[in-house]
Amino acid sequence: MTIQRILIVSGTHGNEINPVWAVKQFNREENRIKKGIKYEYIIGNPLAYGKGYRYIDADLNRSFDESKKNHQQKKSIYEINRANFLVDQFGINGSDPCQIAIDLHTTTANMGTSIVMYGRRFKDFCLAALLQNKFGLPIYLHEKDKDQTGFLVEAWPCGLVIEIGAVAQNFYDPKIINKFLIIISSLREEIDKLKNNLIELPKELIVHVHQESIDYPRDDKGDIDGLIHPERTNQDWKMIKKGDPLFLDSQGIVHKYDGDQFIWPVFIGEVAYKEKKIAMSYTKKEVLFCQNEWIKEFESL
Ligand SMILES: [Zn+2]
Repeated sequence: MTIQRILIVSGTHGNEINPVWAVKQFNREENRIKKGIKYEYIIGNPLAYGKGYRYIDADLNRSFDESKKNHQQKKSIYEINRANFLVDQFGINGSDPCQIAIDLHTTTANMGTSIVMYGRRFKDFCLAALLQNKFGLPIYLHEKDKDQTGFLVEAWPCGLVIEIGAVAQNFYDPKIINKFLIIISSLREEIDKLKNNLIELPKELIVHVHQESIDYPRDDKGDIDGLIHPERTNQDWKMIKKGDPLFLDSQGIVHKYDGDQFIWPVFIGEVAYKEKKIAMSYTKKEVLFCQNEWIKEFESL
């Protein structure tokens, strides 16, 4: 295996400050190179981080879309320029090429520590399976969502998002920081083992596959008219069925889930997704059998 460099990004969203703190502890000279692998630690959106904003002009983690890259009128958008800079420097064909990107995020939803994957790349499955096997982490597999594209890790040959919550934006929580420290060191250990062919995948990988996102109930003016129902708050990853409550509106009416299929909601009430008109996302549970192909693909990095 020829992995030489791994990019660890924190602060892709400038108001998610706990991973930035965690990375500060790792970003010391003695930690930069380990067993022949160089780690590049970088703040994704330094300007937004400095101001405590999620972003300046646009969501950086939706700005890695190839179609946006050369669009003239998009050139004045800070995050598009930043995305281009990151790919030009650390992308696989960049000046300091990294083979893997790990993007660290926090959520205000009660997701615990989870992995977010985009699409079904074998290399990502390989890394995700190792982490799930070690910690039992749930995996949100995001795919087939035409409204949400241009994620950072998609611009690298292999990459995962680590998402930890619940924590408020711009609030330092030592427990959350500690979870990031554990994940970063474990990732390094697993990648070392992979590099030395000391890895065996578990039998199965459990993923929660994105189906759709739903908005809050709204009134005639388009304003939100519905709280997350008390029975639904903090119940991320828990299965719901037809008739289970979702929202409680200002008239006391309970809005219920009326689909026929079992659904596992995630990002329930995520604060940052209000502007995207997302109250929660529906997922379906799927069990995949791990394949040796995944390791082979990983080894080809
Ligand atoms: Zn984020």
